[in-house]
Formats: sequence, C-alpha cells, structure tokens
Amino acid sequence: MSGIFDTRIEYLKGVGPQKAELLNKELNIFTYGDMLQHYPFRYEDRTKFFKIRELTDELENVQVIARIKSVELIGNGNKKRLVAHVFDDTGEMEMTWFKGIQWVQKKLPVGAALIFFGKPAQYGRKWSIAHPELEPVTAANETRNNFQPVYSTTEKLRAKYLDSKGISKILEALLPQVFPHIPETLSPEILHQYQLIGKQEAIRQIHFPSAPELLHRARKRLKFEEFFYLQLRLLMMKVTRTEKSRGQVLSSTELLTDFYKNHIPFELTNAQKRVIREAFGDMKSGKQMNRLIQGDVGSGKTMVAFICMLIAISSGAQACLMAPTEILANQHFEGLKYFADMMGLKIALLTGSTKKSERKVIHEELLSGELKILIGTHALLEDVVQFKNLGLAIVDEQHRFGVAQRAKLWAKNEEFIPHVLVMTATPIPRTLAMTLYGDLDVSVIDELPAGRKPIQTVHRYDKDRLKVFGFINEEVKKGRQVYIVYPLIEESETMDLKNLMDGYESIARAFPQYPLSIVHGGMKSDAKDYEMQRFIKGETKIMVATTVIEVGVNVPNASVMIIENAERFGLSQLHQLRGRVGRGAEQSYCVLMSKVELSKDSKVRLETMVRTNDGFEIADVDLRLRGPGDLMGTQQSGITDLLIADLSKDAPILTLARDAAQQLLSNDPNLSQPDNVPILRQVRLQKKTAVNWSRIS
Ligand code: ADP
Ligand code: MG
Repeated sequence: MSGIFDTRIEYLKGVGPQKAELLNKELNIFTYGDMLQHYPFRYEDRTKFFKIRELTDELENVQVIARIKSVELIGNGNKKRLVAHVFDDTGEMEMTWFKGIQWVQKKLPVGAALIFFGKPAQYGRKWSIAHPELEPVTAANETRNNFQPVYSTTEKLRAKYLDSKGISKILEALLPQVFPHIPETLSPEILHQYQLIGKQEAIRQIHFPSAPELLHRARKRLKFEEFFYLQLRLLMMKVTRTEKSRGQVLSSTELLTDFYKNHIPFELTNAQKRVIREAFGDMKSGKQMNRLIQGDVGSGKTMVAFICMLIAISSGAQACLMAPTEILANQHFEGLKYFADMMGLKIALLTGSTKKSERKVIHEELLSGELKILIGTHALLEDVVQFKNLGLAIVDEQHRFGVAQRAKLWAKNEEFIPHVLVMTATPIPRTLAMTLYGDLDVSVIDELPAGRKPIQTVHRYDKDRLKVFGFINEEVKKGRQVYIVYPLIEESETMDLKNLMDGYESIARAFPQYPLSIVHGGMKSDAKDYEMQRFIKGETKIMVATTVIEVGVNVPNASVMIIENAERFGLSQLHQLRGRVGRGAEQSYCVLMSKVELSKDSKVRLETMVRTNDGFEIADVDLRLRGPGDLMGTQQSGITDLLIADLSKDAPILTLARDAAQQLLSNDPNLSQPDNVPILRQVRLQKKTAVNWSRIS
C-alpha cells in the first residue's frame, strides 16, 4: 500500500509521538498501512452470556450477568485484594482485583447487576474471574450482535491505554480516513471465480465484523490474497530460473541399461521408477534440474541417486553426493562403492578426515575426469575441489545444509550449473512443500520396497522397564540388534549425559553376555566411528546412543528401537529415529519409553507414533502442534510474512490460491492484460519492499 498508507501513525488523531514510538517499538507499526494490517488475532463472542453453572475450564473469556451480594477487601499491603461476591439464578462466584482497587470499588454497588467479562478459573469449588471488565446491563449491551476483535498488544502498550480496546479505537479513527483509498489487489476475474469479497469490505469486516458470516468471508479473502501472492512470487521465480539456467544435456542411458540388465539387486518400486523418470526428464531437457526428492525413511532414495549418477556419467559428466555427517558419507560411500565397482566406475570419499595424500590424488583425478563419483561431507564444497565436468550434484538430508552451502555447489561447473537433486527424508506436508519449495520441482517416493513389515510401535512407562529388558533379551537371542536412544539437549547436557551413562550401566548389568556400543556427541569422531562400525558389522548387539544416529544410518539387522524419555522428542525426530529399524526382512519394533505424567502435546505425539508409520501423516500432526514457524527453512520462505493465513489450518485456501496463481500465469505470463493491472501493481510493490527475497533453494 502506498500514498496515504505511508503516513506515519503519529499523525493520526489520538495517537501522537509518544504512543507512536511505543507502537513502533512494541508492534513494529510505523504507518497507517501497518496499523491497518494489524489484524485481530481472535474475536470474542460478545453475543453469548453464560450462567455461572455453565462455566468450564475450557472456556476462554466469557460474559456473565451477575448481581453483587457483597464486596470485601482481603489481606493488606502487597497481598491486598478486592473480592466481589456475585450470584445469578444458577449459583455464586467471585470477581477479584489485585490492582486499581480504589477505582473499581466505586463501580460495584451492592445489589446492582453487571456484565462481567474475563477468563473463568476455579479455586476449590468456586469459580472466579480475576480483573474482569465491567459493563452496565443495558438493552443495547444485552442484545448486541457483534464479535469483538482482540488485538495482540504488550504490557508496555497496555500501560499507555493501548490495550486491545485502545487499538480498536485507533482503528475506528483510522478506517474512515483511508477506506476509500484501499486499493483492490485482485483481478475481477479472480474475485468472481473464487467468490471473494472486495478488499475494502474485507478490511472493514476484519476489524469491525458486523456478522459472523461476513467476518468469515473477510478472513477467507485476506488469507487467499496472502497465499496468492506468496505462490505467485514463487511461480514467477521458477519461470525465471527455468528460462535463464541452461542445463547440460545428460541423456545417455548406456550405463543404465547395463546396470538394469546385469547388476541391479532388486526390482525397483514403482515410486522409484517414477521419480527416476522425472529426474531423467529434467536432465535431458537442456534446462537445469532443481528437484527435491521426498521419500520416507527406508524408501530407497540411495538407489535413485545412484541411477541418476549413472545417467550423468553415461553422458560424460561426473557426479557427487554430499551428506551432512561423516558417518553418513561413509555409509553412502560403502553402499555405492559396491555398485560402482560392479560397473567399473571410479568412486572416492572425501571428508574432513581424508588424509592429505589421498586428497591430492582425489583432486587430480577429479580434474582429469578419471574419478566419476565423489561422496563426501561439506568438505566437497572447498574451493580446491574442482571437477572436470560436474553434471549432477546430489544433496542428502537437505535440511542440515544452509542455502549458502548449496549455492557453492552450483559454482562447481563454470559452463553449466550442475543439475541438483536434493533428497530429504523429512516428509513435509504438501501445503508446506508447495510454499517452501514452490520454485523447486518435487518428486515423492511414496512407496516402500515390497516385503517390508510395518514397524510395530508401543508406548511403555518407565515402570515397565523390566519387561522391556526381557523383550530386548529375546530379540538379541534371535540374532537381532537393538538401539537404545537417549535425548541429549544442550540446556540439560550434564543431566542428560548422566542419564545416558546410567542407562548404559544398567544395560551392561542386565546383559553381561552381550557386547555393547555407546555413541554420544561428546566423543571424538574417530571413537564414534569406531563404535558405529562395530555395530554395523554386528560385533556389538546393543547400541546405546544419543540422537547422533538419527539420520540415515543403515543397519538392516537392527530391528528394535528403544527411545528413552520419548516425551522429550519432537515428532519428526521420533519418526527419524524409528526409521533406523524396519530396514531388513524381520519384524521390527519401536518402544517409546516415558514417564507417566505427560503434557497434552506429548500425549498426542506418542499416540500419533503408535497409530501410524506414515511420515506424511506424522508431518501433518507435527505442523499442527508446532506451527510452521518452527520448521526448518521457513524463515527464508516468506511464510513468516503471512499475517492472517495459517499453513497448518488453511490448506484448502492455499490450494485454491496456488491454482489461481498458476492459471493466471499461464493465461497472462507478463501480467499485461488490463484486468490484471492491480496484480501487476501489487507484485511490483512487493518487489520493492521485500527485505530479502532471495532464492530459497
Ligand atoms: P532411504 O530412502 O532412507 O535413504 P535407503 O536408500 O537407505 O533408504 O534404502 C533402504 C534399504 O532398502 C537399503 O538397504 C536398500 O538397499 C533397500 N532398497 C532400496 N530400494 C529397494 C527396492 N526397490 N527393493 C528392495 N530393497 C530396496
Ligand atoms: Mg538415506
């Protein structure tokens, strides 16, 4: 918004410099436009009045009409409080004030009936409301039919009378002045097709709803608009990228055919085949591939990666794969070397601990083109690592790498930006993927290899530990291996480490006959690797560890995952951990151990884990519990610019908005039609004001 909307808020009547400064500091409100976009975060239903007997714990603020029986002052000094005993025809309750007592006292004549408004709480058996708002009972008050907006505000603002009501008053003064100048930001066609109300009306209703139905439509319209512009920006970025970046044509299938015919150890799943086709389509297109492969843990992403490498190498290019940790890089190397050797392709591993002499050889062979596949950690990104012709760069477990690091990969080929495949095992709900990766193409491996038995998950309390030990014993006797994972977070590191060591000792006592491994973040990396390798080789039967084993580690013989203090883990972490088992042909189990008292969220998390193995379903629950702001990568995505739309709740509107943006761009790619002028104007405006809308992949 521009023009009048850029007017500084201090010039509004009733605001002035002092309040303006507070609004700047506390709420980031500088201008009329900012103020107008300070939408209420909820509404209070002031249409309903509660009887005292109807009060429950779940209720937020309520209105009660009650008559004053008596008023008394209790305690003294700091602890002084004013209590009004009130009643209606269903019961009695108390209204309490700790501050402003003298002022309130005058407003509480015994015998009078008042409307009290606030959040009810129960002390003993009696309901009370602390610091309720007061209003006289008048015909108008009793029959009003509006929702009252509630604005976010702060202590400091409240002290200057800028509580929710104060902010509402400012808007009351502001709206009439700016109303006729509020520009429509969507085209008539879109308004019509999606049955949206106009911007002016939406802004009016959002602040001063005149009926629930209109409020609903106002919210829908504003949410749609936010999603629409977010999607439009992403789609336009994608168009620019595909137009600009030429890609090396990688189209030979020679090696691929050989591999399929003579070496491949199993039939690919249909999902794997489809994703390979999608990637191949990009690689031979002459445009640069930027594709995200989402596949739940165990879905076989590594094989897809290898096959894409074969395509690149067949066509005379080289390929690299970057993993987030040394352990993982190692494991990828071991796994891929087996196939590369089979195919007579030279492959090498480059990590922080690669010896200098080996490095030198690697550098040379990369430059000469002799080395076809390089696996490694971010050591790959160093400037000295130069390829003859890097055609395909694969990044595993993408969420651990920053944007800047990935950009470095692109610079590894001067003529063409390498094709990029990003593989992630963190399932992202579709809505979020659309937004986070709106400018990437997304492939999903939504099928596990045949013959996998779904992991059985149970929740057990700490007191059942002996039984769990019995179960571990039986499984190890059958020849299986077991993970026991402890949480370790920085804030409580010492305690957590002690828990881990205690746990290790009690396991050692319980199972003197079994060799154990222990791995935690405090160990040197070669010691960790050594222990990890012993477990991978099957020399140790039980692995006691912190979450260092979270990502990607593949030990098919490990079939039991015990997670201690499971209530302390996030859902996606639990799912990742569980994904370490269920990789072989045996039935696998996951046991979530927890204390008995659990928070509401912890309960939902554990129940979800027990109920389903589906990473996408889990991701959806996770998104609902945590909100998108917490998820990785959202900071750069523009999601945090959303004022009213909510990715976890408004998926249907997002889908509509995405369709609308797509349709618009396919009909009018340059936004040059007269009807689309408002949209073009808005896009330009956002470009100007965008703080840092750099590419997100
Ligand atoms: P992730 O997607 O978690 O990285 P991996 O690539 O590590 O999964 O694959 C998990 C296991 O499944 C590996 O042991 C791999 O060899 C095996 N695998 C992959 N694809 C298939 C398939 N189509 N059929 C049978 N086993 C497969
Ligand atoms: Mg993997």
